[in-house]
Amino acid sequence: MKIAFREAKSIITKSNIPSIDFVINPYTGCQHGCIYCYAEFMIRFTGHKGDKWGQFLDIKTFDFDKIKPHKYIGKRILLSSVTDPYLPLEKKYQNTRKILEKLIETTAEISILTKSKLVVRDIDLFKQFKNIRVGVSINTIDEEFSRIIECAASKPMARLDALKEIFEAGISTYVFVSPFFPEITDFKAIIEKSSDFTNKYSFENLNFRPHNTPRILRVIKEKYPKLISKYKEIQKDPSYWDEVESKIRYYCEHMNLNYEINFHHGGFSKS
Ligand code: SF4
Repeated sequence: MKIAFREAKSIITKSNIPSIDFVINPYTGCQHGCIYCYAEFMIRFTGHKGDKWGQFLDIKTFDFDKIKPHKYIGKRILLSSVTDPYLPLEKKYQNTRKILEKLIETTAEISILTKSKLVVRDIDLFKQFKNIRVGVSINTIDEEFSRIIECAASKPMARLDALKEIFEAGISTYVFVSPFFPEITDFKAIIEKSSDFTNKYSFENLNFRPHNTPRILRVIKEKYPKLISKYKEIQKDPSYWDEVESKIRYYCEHMNLNYEINFHHGGFSKS
């Protein structure tokens, strides 16, 4: 892992994500190195040409005292969008914790999203926020598959255990079922294992991008050879996602769950 320190001009930046006003990315790069990651484009913008995603991390340096918690009244802030706020090296460098400490007074809606059990470390801080929700992203409870596609993230059940602990501490929680792997993601099993301690579910489909498609297809070919033709078909004809969306909707309505489905946003047009 190549580690460097880089001064950041700002740490809370405007967002292009619909319904999110600002994003906080305490690091550049991501140790989790998920094979499907959409944030890999960051390599081009951050002077990391030639580096491999998942194998470098810039620790952002910033005067965190400059953070003004009252500047974000009525806004939504996501932590994080192109890294994970609770990477293994967060234990040492604590950028996420330092930022949260400065934001405590804010009334902005803070959404934390992670694949790491380290998130429980900050329960004491979460409790002091007026408007915060903490989520984990998960797309399988199969540990072996998770290890292949998200090699350095916490195991799926460890993420859910962390969420349970956070919920039991009185903090609002959500599960982000993402990315949904066709014919592999068992969303009902994920709901079954988490519905007692989750306030909301969000669902996002797997987006095929030129950089991640060869990796995804290679893994499917090795692990689920019978699905390879299906995956190729979905790439050409994304109408498959409409069927999945209907199944999720039906199940969530039936279970009376609070949920949202964010399919087709990655360049697909709804058929
Ligand atoms: S945790 Fe998120 S940002 Fe990090 S590699 Fe995985 S998908 Fe990308």
